[in-house]
Amino acid sequence: MRKPIFAANWKMQKTAGEAEAFADKFLPLVAGLDRVDIVIAPPFTALDRLGHKLDGSHVALAAQNVNAEERGAFTGEIAPGMLVDLGCRYTLVGHSERRALYGENDERVARKAAALLAHGIRPIVCVGESLEQRKRGDALDVVSGQLSDSLATVEASQADDIVIAYEPVWAIGTGETATPEIAQEVHRHIREQLRVKFGEAGDRIRIQYGGSVKPENVDELMTQPDIDGALVGGASLDPEAFSRIVRFEKT
Ligand code: PEP
Repeated sequence: MRKPIFAANWKMQKTAGEAEAFADKFLPLVAGLDRVDIVIAPPFTALDRLGHKLDGSHVALAAQNVNAEERGAFTGEIAPGMLVDLGCRYTLVGHSERRALYGENDERVARKAAALLAHGIRPIVCVGESLEQRKRGDALDVVSGQLSDSLATVEASQADDIVIAYEPVWAIGTGETATPEIAQEVHRHIREQLRVKFGEAGDRIRIQYGGSVKPENVDELMTQPDIDGALVGGASLDPEAFSRIVRFEKT
């Protein structure tokens, strides 16, 4: 059985003080909820203070990005060791906004994933097709290509430490959610590919769905056999809404 995993991606939202205020409200709402893993990825500037708030709780800290290099002349960048220093246990790689706006391609995603794994941080590897690609009937091929290139550096012995997030670009921040059936079709396809690459370990890898997940649609999405949680943007900014999402009910 895969333990569901829910991750909040706050993007460029919340100051450190706002992140602390979120934690004060959110932690009591999820106290004792150990049937799911919960992860919060605030902006870099809030990692330290939010990390202190989460200390001793079962909610894990994550970063939204990383540089694959150890150190050096990379102005504005953050190295994996610096994330370890702040207590990060997960990091997003290959989010579609980074792919579209900051030139993050599969090869870079693969290097970042390898660097994170070498530092004991679990990468959440994001993949997903655009609306044009879906309309052309290319969704499964696009996702397959991103997955195999982004995981090129990951060994079977590391498979248990990765999380995949399937996020159709047309569903991110648009209010448009993939139907549970559409999402499951892609998740099943990803699962098959993971089995081919990693053998039995492919069955243990968690695959999150992302794209306008909210309290109103999470229960239905979670009925699908290969949907193991969600990567949540907008609805994760509100403690009540995100706590309802992680407390999904299997119908
Ligand atoms: C995201 O950016 O990862 C995301 C899924 O955003 P939203 O939930 O707002 O669609």
